[in-house]
Amino acid sequence: MASETIEKLRAAVRDVHDFPKTGIVFKDITPVLNDPVLFRASIDLFVERCREKRVDKIVGIDARGFLFGSAVAYELGLGFVPIRKRGKLPYRTDTAKYSLEYGEAEMEMHTDALKDGERVVLVDDLLATGGTSAAAAVLIRNTGANLLEAQFLIELEFLEGRKRLHPTTVTSFLKY
Ligand code: AMP
Repeated sequence: MASETIEKLRAAVRDVHDFPKTGIVFKDITPVLNDPVLFRASIDLFVERCREKRVDKIVGIDARGFLFGSAVAYELGLGFVPIRKRGKLPYRTDTAKYSLEYGEAEMEMHTDALKDGERVVLVDDLLATGGTSAAAAVLIRNTGANLLEAQFLIELEFLEGRKRLHPTTVTSFLKY
């Protein structure tokens, strides 16, 4: 994709200081979603990268990973799997714990969502510390599926989240 488009996307991502708490600079992607050209361009980044390999399913992480992941799956004609925060999925689930700044959280995926050997790409809006996506990677791998790559629109490189995702291949399109 043209570097001009990448720069337009970068300019559209809005920094919101002290949200959800003091000291955090929240990367707000809603201006990207709001603009039809930029929304399509953001989805195309994921789609182009996925077209380079054979993918069976897209897995998205609650909640902004659903906005991007489901559009990517639709465009590629693939199935979509949600990984959600604890207590949101109605059927039998597998659970993975991960640590937050204070305490622990859990992510869940339906036990029948992925099959052994399926080729999967994980999608989320943003890679920060990597805790959330590392838990998602555990859930995916526990099914026997092949996690080809984790893809993020935004990566906060200074938090070194990709180290936590090792050995998963990480791709991000806007780096800060
Ligand atoms: P982490 O587990 O630290 O990699 O956090 C990743 C999740 O938290 C992603 O799903 C993001 O949506 C959200 N997140 C973390 N930090 C930020 C931030 N600075 N701006 C926007 N979203 C964030």
